[in-house]
Amino acid sequence: MRKKLIAGNWKMNLNTHQASVLIHRLEENLETHKDVEVVICPSVMSVQPLNLQINKRKMKLGAQDAFYEDEGAYTGQVSAAMLHGVVEYCLVGHSERRHVFGETDDVISKKLAAVVRNRIKPILCVGETSTDRADGETKQVLHDQVIADLRNLTAKEIQELAIAYEPVWAIGTGDYAKPDQVKEATDFIRHNVRELYGPKAEQDLRVLYGGSVKPDNAKSYMDIEGVDGLLVGGASLNYKQFAQIVNSAHESTGN
Ligand code: PEP
Repeated sequence: MRKKLIAGNWKMNLNTHQASVLIHRLEENLETHKDVEVVICPSVMSVQPLNLQINKRKMKLGAQDAFYEDEGAYTGQVSAAMLHGVVEYCLVGHSERRHVFGETDDVISKKLAAVVRNRIKPILCVGETSTDRADGETKQVLHDQVIADLRNLTAKEIQELAIAYEPVWAIGTGDYAKPDQVKEATDFIRHNVRELYGPKAEQDLRVLYGGSVKPDNAKSYMDIEGVDGLLVGGASLNYKQFAQIVNSAHESTGN
């Protein structure tokens, strides 16, 4: 049985003091469920102090990004090697990295390999734009991203991988995907992983949905067979909403 995974992406919000206060509030409000793993991805400024603050029985830390080289003349970058021992998870290929910062699948595949090499669990984000969907290209885009992003990894190396299906048009827009759209896309992601690595890899793979998840729609996604978790942006900045989403995951029947 795959453990459910609820990850909060705080994006570029909260200074270190505010981040510390929100973690405190979350620890007061989050119920611990044996079947749900909770991961918070704060700004890189806050990962080190929060690593000392958090109760690791309640939640784990993730980074939002990591560079693909371990060290060197790469001004402004933070490497997966530096994050090793501080975070347990790292987002890779988030749609804002792809579409605001122009990250290509080539860069994303190298980042994924660096994260794995440094023994951090990757959450790879994939998803189509509204134009891709309108053009009937959703499956082609998902297929291309999965194939290209995973190309440097073996079946053994993807054992800890989670893939988040995040349609770009649903992120931060309130225009969330319908459960049947999520079911079709997440089944297709699983199918691609099975084709690449075989049935065991697909069985072990955790697939998440992300895009305008709120307390009132979280359970409808978690009830989908094959959906193991959620990647939550905006609602993860509100401790009451995030705690409700974690409880919905626990109550869900999915996976
Ligand atoms: C995200 O940042 O990955 C995300 C899904 O954001 P939101 O929940 O705000 O749509």
